[in-house]
Parts: sequence; C-alpha cells; structure tokens
Amino acid sequence: MSDALPSQAEIVIIGGGAIGCSIAYHLTKLGHKDVILLERGTLTCGTSWHAAGLVMQLRATHTMTELCRYSADLYEKLEAETGQATGFRRSGSLPVARTSARMTELKRLASLGRYFDVPVDILSPAEVAERYPLIDSKQVVGGLFIPGDGQTNPIDTTMALAKGARMRGARIFERARVTGLEAAGGAVKTVRTERGDIACDKIVLCGGLWSRDLAAMVGVNVPLFASEHMYVTTAPMEGVRPNLPVIRDTDGYVYIKEDAGKLLVGAFEPACKPLPVENLPAQFEFGELPEDWDHFALPMSKAIELVPALETAQIRHFLNGPESFTPDNKFILGEAPEVRNFFVAAGFNSQGILSAAGVGRAMADWISSGEPQMDLSEVDIARFARFQVNRRYLRERTTESLGLLYAMHWPFRQVESARPVRQGALHERLKARNACFGETAGWERANWYAPAGVTPAYEYAYGRQNWFPYVGEEHKAVRERVGMFDLSSFAKFQIEGPDAERELQRLCGNNVAVPVGRIVYTQMLNSRGGIQADVTVSRLGEDRFWVVTAAANQVRDLTWIRRNIDGAARVTIVDITSAYSVLPVMGPNARKLLARVSPADFGNAAFPFGTLQQIEIGYGMAHALRVTYVGELGWELYIPTEFVGPIFDLLEAEGRDLGLRLAGYHALDSLRSEKGYRHWGHDISPADTPFEAGLGFAVDLEGKGDFIGRAALEGRKSQPMTRRLVHFRMQEPEPVLFHDEPIYRDGRIVGRLTSGSYGYSVGAAVGMGYAECADGVTADFVEQGSYEIEIAAERFPAIASLRPFYDPASTRVRL
Ligand SMILES: Cc1cc2nc3c(=O)[nH]c(=O)nc-3n(C[C@H](O)[C@H](O)[C@H](O)COP(=O)(O)OP(=O)(O)OC[C@H]3O[C@@H](n4cnc5c(N)ncnc54)[C@H](O)[C@@H]3O)c2cc1C
Repeated sequence: MSDALPSQAEIVIIGGGAIGCSIAYHLTKLGHKDVILLERGTLTCGTSWHAAGLVMQLRATHTMTELCRYSADLYEKLEAETGQATGFRRSGSLPVARTSARMTELKRLASLGRYFDVPVDILSPAEVAERYPLIDSKQVVGGLFIPGDGQTNPIDTTMALAKGARMRGARIFERARVTGLEAAGGAVKTVRTERGDIACDKIVLCGGLWSRDLAAMVGVNVPLFASEHMYVTTAPMEGVRPNLPVIRDTDGYVYIKEDAGKLLVGAFEPACKPLPVENLPAQFEFGELPEDWDHFALPMSKAIELVPALETAQIRHFLNGPESFTPDNKFILGEAPEVRNFFVAAGFNSQGILSAAGVGRAMADWISSGEPQMDLSEVDIARFARFQVNRRYLRERTTESLGLLYAMHWPFRQVESARPVRQGALHERLKARNACFGETAGWERANWYAPAGVTPAYEYAYGRQNWFPYVGEEHKAVRERVGMFDLSSFAKFQIEGPDAERELQRLCGNNVAVPVGRIVYTQMLNSRGGIQADVTVSRLGEDRFWVVTAAANQVRDLTWIRRNIDGAARVTIVDITSAYSVLPVMGPNARKLLARVSPADFGNAAFPFGTLQQIEIGYGMAHALRVTYVGELGWELYIPTEFVGPIFDLLEAEGRDLGLRLAGYHALDSLRSEKGYRHWGHDISPADTPFEAGLGFAVDLEGKGDFIGRAALEGRKSQPMTRRLVHFRMQEPEPVLFHDEPIYRDGRIVGRLTSGSYGYSVGAAVGMGYAECADGVTADFVEQGSYEIEIAAERFPAIASLRPFYDPASTRVRL
C-alpha cells in the first residue's frame, strides 16, 4: 500500500473487484508482466464482497454459457494453483417452475444444456421435493437439477485471482484512487491518481457501478445505472443440510442458497429501486444500504410459499447492496468506440462473480491481441447508441432490468420502460394503422399490424403468439401482391472522397470497385476472416458511397469503419441515418405500384437487380435501390426524411387496388428466413467466416487486391469445412422455432439453430444453424443424415438443406 506508484506501465486496470482481479490474472497468464491494478479502497470493497456467490453455467445464450462454464471450471482449480481457498463447491442448482410456461422455459434450458454437454435432469414436483425436502412441492409443476452448478465465496475467489495475478508479476495498489483519465490523438495516455500519474499504453476500466462516471472523464459512454439489490440471511435452520442445491424460483422472484446451516434468500423483484450513484458517499467501502422490508415483502412472501420453514426462521441479516444494470441486461465489454486502447468491463447485472473468470479470459485475449477471440458481439460496448448514457433513460430502464432477469424470457418480449426514445417520421401514421411497436436501439418499430378491432399488443407464449395469423397475412401480401415496410431505422453512412473506393476495397470482402449506380452485398471481415459487419455498399458517384447496415449495428459498424480506414486517406465519413427514411416496396406488384408514383422506368432492362437510381417520386426525389431482404421483386426507397410522409400516403393510396399491405419486422423475419437471408448477430457473427456461412459468393478473392481477412480466408479455402450453415425446415407444421435449439443428425447433436421463424410460404417453421463435423460438412453429410431439432427437451423431425427452401434459384427477385 505504501509502495510508490510507477510513472509508466503497459496496462493499468482500474478497480479491484472480481472483474479487475480476474483480468489481471488472465493478462499475466498470457505473459503480460507490466500490469498495474489500482483500487481506491481495498480489494473487493465495492460490490464484489457482498455477492451471494451463485455460480451457474447455463445462461440465455451461447456466449454467456461459454463464459460461465469456464468460470466454474477455473474456480474449482484456483486453490490448487494459488494456495488461496475460494470456497467454490458444486452443490448443484435447482431451478423450479410454478407454471407450465416456465416449465417450457426450463426444458428449453435443459436442451441447451445437452448442446453444451452440461448435465441437466428434468424433475417432477415429487423429484424436486426429494432433492430439497423443505420445498412445498404443491407450489411447483416441476424443475431442473443441474449438478455442476455451485456457489463460491466472492471475497476469497477475488483474492485467489489477485494472488494468481501477483504470483505472475502484476502489481496491485490499494488506496490508489483514480482521479482523472487522459487521451491524446484518440488513444489513451495517462491515468491520474491521488498518488501520481501513470503514463500507459492501455487502460482497463473495471470500476463497477462507478464506471459510467469514470469513463465520462475521457468521453467514453458506459451506459449503466446502479440499483439496490437485496438478500436476507436466516439463523441456522432445522433441515438445512450442507450442500443443498441453490433454488432458483424465478416465478417467485427469489433464489435460496444454503450457507453453513442457514438459508440466504435473495430477490429479483419485478420493479427494483434504482440508485443514482451520487446518492452514495464518496468513500463507499464495504458499504451497505438501509434495509427495506416493504420492498422485500413480495419476494419474501413467495420464498415462504415455496419453503414454508422460512416463515418461522429468524432473520439474522438484511443485506442491501448496490449493483449496476445495463439497458439490455447484458455486460459491457471491450474497447471503447471513442478512445483507442481504452477497455471496459462493467455492468454485470448481478452476474459478475459467476462470469468473472470467463470475462477475465475473454477480455485478456482482446486486450492482448487487439481483437476479441470469441464472439462477444452481444456484450460488446460498441452496441450502444450515444443516447443510452442519458441518466433519465437509464434510471427508468433499470427499474425494469433487474426484474427481467427472473421474468419470463418470452420470445419477442419487449421492454416496457423508458419508451419512446426514437420515432421515425411515419410513427403516427403507423400507429393509426394499428401497428404493434417493438424497440430496437431506442427505435420504435412496427413489428406487426393488428387488424381493425384487435388491440395491437403482444400476448406472449412459447408456442404461436397472438400475432401469428396477422403476420401470415402480411407475409402473403408480400409474396403474392405487394407489401410496404418502414425500415427507416437502418443505419446509413456516407463515405466520400478520392480515396473512398480504395479504403472500402480494403474493408470489404466483395469487390466494390463497381460502376456508379451499382449495389454490392458484402461483409467486412476481421483478421481471422470472421464477419464483423454485413452491409450493402452502394456507389452513388465516383467518390461517393453509401454503406447501409442494421439499426442495432449503427455504432458498432461505424466504429469498425472509422478504426480501419487509413488515417491519412482523403475520406469523410458521415452518419446520415436520420437524414433518410427507408420504405421498401416488395412483391410481384411492386413495379406496377412504383410506376404509378414515379416516371422512372422500373423495367428489368432499365433498372436491373443490384442497381440504384435517383428517381422522382410524388413531389419529391428518392434513391431507389433494387435489392431485397425478402426474396421478391422490389425496391428500397431512400427518401429524405421530411418528404417521407406524403410519399408514404401516395404509395398507400395508389397501392390499394394492387393489394398493398403494410408489413412489419416479424413478417420481414419470416420472409428472409425461408429465403435463407442471414441475420447478423444471429446467423453470422465475428466468429463465422463467409465460407462457413454460405456467403462465399460475396467474397472476391480473384478480382481484387488485399482486404482485411483475406489471408485468413485464403488459408482456410483448401481445408475441409468443419462447420457450415445449414437450412432446416420442420417436417410437421406445428413446432415453433426461435433460436438455440439443438440440431441432431442420426441421433447425435451436431449444432444448434442460430435463428428460427415460421415460413408461411413453405408451411412450417424454418431455421438456420451451423452443423459441425470434424471430417467436413459436405453436401453428402447434409443430405444423407436424418435430422431432428430439439424443442424444450422433445425432438421433432426436420429436413436439412444447403439451399434455402423458398425460391432457391432467386427467380422471384428478377421478375
Ligand atoms: C446483493 C447482491 C448479490 C449478488 N449476488 C451475486 C451472485 O450470486 N452471483 C454473481 O455472479 N453476482 C452477484 N452479484 C453481483 C456481483 O457482486 C457484481 O456483479 C460483481 O461484484 C461486480 O464486480 P466488479 O469487479 O465489476 O465491481 P466491484 O466489485 O464493485 O469493483 C469495482 C471496484 O472499483 C473500485 N473503484 C471505483 N472507483 C474507483 C476509482 N476512482 N479509482 C480506483 N478504484 C475505483 C471500487 O472501489 C470497487 O472495488 C450480487 C450483487 C449484489 C449487490
């Protein structure tokens, strides 16, 4: 503690909680010696010390499960390596269901467990009671037992990680408060502390709930907000034997953990208590917040319902501690878009202990190599829009976030708090047409339209939801007549300048050195050949291009482009998202409709597929792009935002007798799924190459020079493809697919679905997923196997194909 701080270091980690210590541990494991960790108080004094210490392996997604599985494995070995006990033990966990819908959710988790090779037993109510005699089995319809889950002592585990880091050369300084951060030339430069400045190459911010304000010192966005988070501990209770599994009663908003003969009851209540960080004292070390029995009454009553012995148990301690939550309940990891070499690992949504080891390893890989070494896109800090640091937004969203962790994880579930944030120019019109809006990156978007007399609101279910028939009608209109979407939330970037073509050629796998007026579908790849971005590049002029991507990827893709464009290039990049609204007009009648509102020639000769033109439309001008994400004849109209209202009205009026129907995002998803169009974030990600994803047609290795990822792709070209995206269609019309369902070939698991939807034109659920085989996923492998998809622990027969099920020859787009 009294040691002088160095004036220089390679890597400075801020924050001595579980996360900072784990990153230090893993960086030193990779051979980094010059690692400094600064903690303003003493290790664990922030949030880590009072965690309940639950360690579960199966999480909602593939990435999260990978991180958490590794944590459990490391905690088990850490004592042998460091000599510091962690308190980790695999006592198992016991998620229980009070409703049949929750049981379906649990069975889906069990299926995911099979894919990950995590043993999971499905239990009847009687079996639940056998595992945990204190449970009143009448309260549950069933449960799971996951024997490999466990619990750990958060302080000891953090200390073991710190010890391991120190043993390999990291230097940890307590009582070293960071007071300022400095960047120069867009990269980190100095960490200022109470005890002097440290010049450094890299900063890793692991400041827990203080991270938002610390990051703001250097202009970095870290959208998190603290909430009060509570548990109580009883006195020793009869019948509480050692090694009882941890109960997770998500319907009752509680978890219950055995702790030395006592029970610890923790809450994930539906409406939590946000806590502005400025309400905490500046020196908040091992701090606790006041008890709030009124707030805890609901979860406690549920806990008593499930474990009646709690009713008479003496409560020894009420712990109320702060923890930080993010707008989408996912971590904030990675290099900040705003400042180079500034890394963040924060916003753990009450999962910081169980994921600390996995996060530490993933972050160390990223910090060390400059790129993530696994698919971390769902937790990447670059997913956030700038507005998401707004404190009113964060505060309101946090009220909901904590409870959502235990709420039903319904497919298509929409957040209810902090809305609306962003509305397109057509919002009121779409509302008047009975749109049911969903939220993405703050945008209110029409997911589906209710017919007259039907309330546009979700009725969630694991089977077909209430919108199923209405979306079917939208789908049919697009396939048979014409449909109009509002996709104005597309992110759009204008890249302009004498070096624009050269720079885009280096960024894109496909050849974008095309004549003016051409549109190129392409991916931007990372150095491993993985798909970093999935975009269209349109050439509007010699020196002018538009790059269009999904709304959710606005910051992520813009950051990638900015980071990889040569600093000396004569190029400007402008985000023109708000300037243009986008109306795709799709379907066999699209040409007829557009000809009624524009004098342009929409014939195949004058306006072929893959081209764009500026057209007159209504009283205005638009760029019409002949592309499609639904597999039909059609044009995407890019209309300056203030013109879009009247043009929408005109299209609607002129389209009436052509059978025009408004269609939303659910129809879009259904249409694109059966046509086999990939969705970035689901079917394609930084961990998938275009070859694996079946997008080899969008990579030009022959016709152009070097580009990012080229060497990796060339290296892989001659090797057998051990994983490959395959299309699936259920043999029966009833089963519903979402994503993450295991894929069986000849009775063995070979992969999982990355997305699933209902293909109204093919009459069954369809999905995509990567099949894996060490000898190569060949056409024979795909065609000759007998396939099944497991949905909620039940297998259903499926047909596999390397080609999409709808219009595989793409004749419809060229009508
Ligand atoms: C009641 C409760 C129960 C929980 N139960 C569980 C559980 O069962 N399982 C689980 O996985 N998670 C649980 N959590 C969540 C878990 O505790 C956190 O996610 C985790 O501790 C976060 O670790 P961290 O390292 O990010 O943050 P912290 O432990 O808060 O570490 C951040 C550190 O940064 C330091 N710092 C801040 N500002 C500065 C500065 N200016 N200079 C230097 N240092 C600074 C702080 O002092 C602090 O020590 C629980 C949380 C609560 C509140």
